[in-house]
Amino acid sequence: MNSIIFNENDRIQFRTLVEQAQRLVIISHTNPDGDAIGSSLGSWHILSPMVPQAVVVLPNRCPETFRYLPGNDAIVDADTDMALCKQYLAEADLIIGIDFNQISRVDRLQETLAQAKAKKVLIDHHHNPDREAFCPVFSSEASSACEVAFWLYTAIWGRECINDSAARCLYNGICTDTGSFSFSNEHPSLHYAAAELVSHPIGAADIHNHINNTFSFNRMQLFGFAITQRLRIFKDKHMAYFYISLDDLKQFNADAADLEGLVNYTLMMKEIEVGALVREEVGRTKISLRAKYDFDVNVFARTHFGGGGHTKAAGATVNDTFQNTINKLETLLLKEI
Ligand code: 5GP
Ligand code: MN
Repeated sequence: MNSIIFNENDRIQFRTLVEQAQRLVIISHTNPDGDAIGSSLGSWHILSPMVPQAVVVLPNRCPETFRYLPGNDAIVDADTDMALCKQYLAEADLIIGIDFNQISRVDRLQETLAQAKAKKVLIDHHHNPDREAFCPVFSSEASSACEVAFWLYTAIWGRECINDSAARCLYNGICTDTGSFSFSNEHPSLHYAAAELVSHPIGAADIHNHINNTFSFNRMQLFGFAITQRLRIFKDKHMAYFYISLDDLKQFNADAADLEGLVNYTLMMKEIEVGALVREEVGRTKISLRAKYDFDVNVFARTHFGGGGHTKAAGATVNDTFQNTINKLETLLLKEI
């Protein structure tokens, strides 16, 4: 029931690369989400038995929410040890980029990744994969990188390559990127992949609890504050957005990872069709965008802010002040919706 068919030569090439690799690095995007962590660790559980040395390299620390996943010790992150991340990338003979389409998405590791001598393979589900930096590219508009990885690995090594730990990680990423099967990617192949994964003893209900029900009290208070003090609603335009400054985060002893999921609250309102979150970072500003229906936030993010993503979930990192970005976003959204 797989709708994701990969080119056979690419599959053979990838299989050979893995089987000949001595030092494998699996790398995902900055501010890793559940799909980035799930697909990286899931890949690690499947591929590490085949390669003498395999590590997961991330531009940032794994968010607390996903530390429950098996294999966390295999992660090296640039927040903790930048030099070690660079060393692994430089010494690798095979690098798998997963859950991102452009090299810029690894942020501080971009230059090292670009210059690394290893063969670079991409496994992803975003538009416009970078086919110059990566070859082969396994990219499909599937629900998640975890789903693409599932169909790719099973096409090459059969169902047996999915061990229990890999199943747990891949299921985690599918759940987070589909909002627990609630977003619009409803292709049967997603559910067939999920069915295969839950045939392992992964504890699906436990995974849902880890993803959705682990808020700290501070984080709950922060969401309450955001909803009551930092939400602007434009009913006529069916648009709403949150704006959260660094001081706001400090007040709740919170960090950026604590805002994960906040932007989705905009769409919980019946009348709202497009929602956003503007978040202040040190020296730059981050935008998250979500849509319910036809407004293409990927095009919007790319055209106006040099970002990207998917039609219904996109983002951008803007080298401008928090206030300027809020003003620009509000003006453009009101104009274009
Ligand atoms: P989020 O809003 O959850 O951070 O990201 C939603 C989607 O937008 C993700 O699929 C991600 O790939 C994309 N995205 C988020 N931030 C950026 C960014 O700074 N640049 C680009 N190109 N895409 C982003
Ligand atoms: Mn993803």
